[in-house]
Amino acid sequence: MYESLKNIDHSFDIAVGDVGCTIRKGDHWSTIPVGTDLLLMNCSVGHRGPCAADCINEGTGRILGHWKGEFGKLPPALLGIEHNVSARNFDVLREMMRVGYGDIADGDIITALVYVRNS
Ligand SMILES: [Zn+2]
Repeated sequence: MYESLKNIDHSFDIAVGDVGCTIRKGDHWSTIPVGTDLLLMNCSVGHRGPCAADCINEGTGRILGHWKGEFGKLPPALLGIEHNVSARNFDVLREMMRVGYGDIADGDIITALVYVRNS
């Protein structure tokens, strides 16, 4: 049983075998158990539900852990393993979150999903 981890039109930058994390608004991903297998999906447009034929599978991963808290309190060590290398900078990450989710405030709850890339 796989969960689809969707990136909207950006690649998964971490190498196979490496540990990375993705920052998602809200607490949904904090409810997905450690050990869950992931399909790493690169989707051309944001969508809900199952991926379509034009969504690209870039590999698999497995959830190692989560951190849930306020956006403004994201630990630097987690920012440092962002799976989008260009977003390992708080200002860049904030702008990407704004594009993806609309306005994002320091007090908004986010989940950092930590995973190992297996393929
Ligand atoms: Zn998709």
